[in-house]
Amino acid sequence: MTKSYITYKYGVIWQVDCPICSTMIRSMIADDKPLASEKINGKTVIRERMVLSCLPNYREVRMAMNDGSFHVAPICASCAVDLTLEKVNTAAVKDPKAVGDRRPTLAMDVDFTIKE
Ligand SMILES: [Zn+2]
Repeated sequence: MTKSYITYKYGVIWQVDCPICSTMIRSMIADDKPLASEKINGKTVIRERMVLSCLPNYREVRMAMNDGSFHVAPICASCAVDLTLEKVNTAAVKDPKAVGDRRPTLAMDVDFTIKE
């Protein structure tokens, strides 16, 4: 069984690592402003809303699959520099539900847009 590159916590996606090298590429961070604060047992408790954010090293690769379809996988900026068929295959097989028996034929393009 392949180890997932997605970590769940409290029932939601909490962290996403690069499926090729395991570098963290998405993480939960506190939203800009706290939702509320209240006194509990004499202590001020500040409630924050957490959001899953893409880190600056987040990239996506769109790969052509052997059945003519496409698959998009998240990867890190370092792995995006010199993508090989072996690397994109490593990313593809770690997403067995979406990929199934399909395999990448070549790396198509990498999205360098930093997502919020
Ligand atoms: Zn990587």
